[in-house]
Amino acid sequence: MSVLSPGTLGEALGILAKDHAATPLSGGTDLLVHWPVRLEAHERTYLDLSGVNELKAHTWTKRDLVLGGRTTYWDIVGDSQAAREFPLLVAAARVVGAIQIQTRGTWAGNIVNASPAADGVPALMAYGAVVVLESTAGREEVPLDRFYQGYKKMSRRPDQLIVAIRIPRRSYDVQVFQKVGSRRAQAITKVGLAITRSDLGWRVVANSVAPTVCRCHAVEHMLESKVPVSSPDGFFQGLERDISPIDDIRSTAEYRKIVLSRLIYFELRGACDWIT
Ligand SMILES: Cc1cc2nc3c(=O)[nH]c(=O)nc-3n(C[C@H](O)[C@H](O)[C@H](O)COP(=O)(O)OP(=O)(O)OC[C@H]3O[C@@H](n4cnc5c(N)ncnc54)[C@H](O)[C@@H]3O)c2cc1C
Repeated sequence: MSVLSPGTLGEALGILAKDHAATPLSGGTDLLVHWPVRLEAHERTYLDLSGVNELKAHTWTKRDLVLGGRTTYWDIVGDSQAAREFPLLVAAARVVGAIQIQTRGTWAGNIVNASPAADGVPALMAYGAVVVLESTAGREEVPLDRFYQGYKKMSRRPDQLIVAIRIPRRSYDVQVFQKVGSRRAQAITKVGLAITRSDLGWRVVANSVAPTVCRCHAVEHMLESKVPVSSPDGFFQGLERDISPIDDIRSTAEYRKIVLSRLIYFELRGACDWIT
């Protein structure tokens, strides 16, 4: 194994430009979990980002909250402005693992690890987050809801780092985050949901029900069109088109569909007069 420790973003990008196999390492809370059993991981070159201070801070501009490529969940939990403007980020951060993981794990790591069960991604996607990628060739922005092409497939070249995650500041009148797991901490999500409504319309995002965290476009369309719904089953038709859950050790596909429909129904019943 070799570990390279750049001190600046320029150095880090220079290393990635020469060695596409170098693996960026932020908090290490995903990468190092499999360390004892994945022997091929021992042969890799790791690009330790802990010395790249440019990536650490999150900042507020007039238009956006900008998370750095190394901003952790805990950085956001501790920001009262984030609690006011983006409460779903704080809610999501508080259910990632437990405090030890929240202080090391990063939003960028959660995106690139690309687990269908990732808890940070639904909240970011519901807020219309944009992934900012950089290489020595320049910068590129990709909306998070177009970042994934399939299971663990994404719009990131090996020479690119996530240097920021840009979250536009908007007013929301509906904001929902739910995680269903076997307990409140240290649990992988069985079914998760984030919903927002802004002047751009509805965003309904689910995790652990498809190969990637996904927007539920058919359900969003039902909400935009105010299709009357009088029970959780009323969302089945939309969900059939949006999700493709599987049976695994944590739950069954059927359980996931039923629970997701109930979450959407009971969360929105009070907020929308066409959901009764
Ligand atoms: C005990 C435990 C509990 C957990 N619980 C949860 C949970 O409840 N919910 C949840 O969603 N996750 C959970 N996780 C997973 C993990 O903590 C998160 O996914 C975390 O956000 C990963 O961030 P990291 O900085 O540690 O990533 P790392 O492990 O450093 O990296 C993860 C991936 O991202 C890449 N990467 C990292 N930073 C960058 C960058 N800036 N640019 C490009 N690529 C990058 C790495 O190369 C790697 O492929 C848990 C992990 C553990 C060990």
